[in-house]
Amino acid sequence: MALIVQKFGGTSVGSIERIEQVAEKVKKHREAGDDLVVVLSAMSGETNRLIDLAKQITDQPVPRELDVIVSTGEQVTIALLTMALIKRGVPAVSYTGNQVRILTDSAHNKARILQIDDQKIRADLKEGRVVVVAGFQGVDEHGSITTLGRGGSDTTGVALAAALKADECQIYTDVDGVYTTDPRVVPQARRLEKITFEEMLEMASLGSKVLQIRSVEFAGKYNVPLRVLHSFKEGPGTLITIDEEESMEQPIISGIAFNRDEAKLTIRGVPDTPGVAFKILGPISASNIEVDMIVQNVSHDNTTDFTFTVHRNEYEKAHSVLENTAREIGAREVVGDTKIAKVSIVGVGMRSHAGVASRMFEALAKESINIQMISTSEIKVSVVIEEKYLELAVRALHTAFELDAPARQGE
Ligand code: ASP
Ligand code: MG
Repeated sequence: MALIVQKFGGTSVGSIERIEQVAEKVKKHREAGDDLVVVLSAMSGETNRLIDLAKQITDQPVPRELDVIVSTGEQVTIALLTMALIKRGVPAVSYTGNQVRILTDSAHNKARILQIDDQKIRADLKEGRVVVVAGFQGVDEHGSITTLGRGGSDTTGVALAAALKADECQIYTDVDGVYTTDPRVVPQARRLEKITFEEMLEMASLGSKVLQIRSVEFAGKYNVPLRVLHSFKEGPGTLITIDEEESMEQPIISGIAFNRDEAKLTIRGVPDTPGVAFKILGPISASNIEVDMIVQNVSHDNTTDFTFTVHRNEYEKAHSVLENTAREIGAREVVGDTKIAKVSIVGVGMRSHAGVASRMFEALAKESINIQMISTSEIKVSVVIEEKYLELAVRALHTAFELDAPARQGE
């Protein structure tokens, strides 16, 4: 008999029919003999609706009060599912974050979990009850309700699994696993049987939206096996774990992530003196703008070009900060481009294989796609390219790294 934490996302509990379906699913698992803790999101769209209500009162809702409002979405779904279980003869009980006592810090709207009291849950499990817990929320030391940031129910699920030393944390969602890349861009994308925490973390921070980044960090830190599964279709899903099997079949690249979230800024003709990078990026970070990729060119005639990317939403702000800097340090000009995309290949196999980056560049060269910037880490290579070539680049790389699903008979 195993102890499993099952988390269902907003679309999985988006209507009464769906909640009844989830209840059927939970009932089946329970009858198979496992102890179950179920974590729920609010009905899809509900959190947005609640935030919108607050915004009708004020543009800047007090964070503490916003948490009081948005935490109600999950309070509704846990009660509905618990009723649906009891109706089916499955003993069950629901708890809000406060009732469990999921203790967090006081950073409203983005709180971090500090501690979970497992006593109540353990007692209920011992009595044979399914325990249904509201995701996304906790309580701080002053007794104020807190929430964990958008998508935070994943983190609740993982944190509960860690606290209870559960055998697995299952994340039920509207896709049947983690794919080699977005199947909407590459129809031959394949579901991965397994992926490591590290790879998943890179995929998530690079644009794959299957799991909240923080939940993956948490799972890795406490070594909680995570499994992404479809809420209403049968299948093994994708297991996210620590072990990197060094098997022969292990692909070098596990996945290809991409996003259109960034914009590029270049300051040209910068006098090349010590401290120049700091002079350029200091004011950017002082304005709370996060920088992603950075390239400084080799200097020529004692001047250099310096290029970096920021989130597209902060492009205008970064541009004006950089204009100021250019005047102060006597740089020639500032230019920018918002029509860029970042494409990344991710895989722990890179550690033990040479030539992965050049294989990537070769594939892009074959399609005549110009690379504007490059950055690498131990398990990732990212490039910035012109936005209009994004789909082409992702497809070419998917094929070049042999990730395409084999064509089915007759196709
Ligand atoms: N209901 C919250 C949100 O929409 C938390 C979650 O769904 O994970 O962000
Ligand atoms: Mg969600």
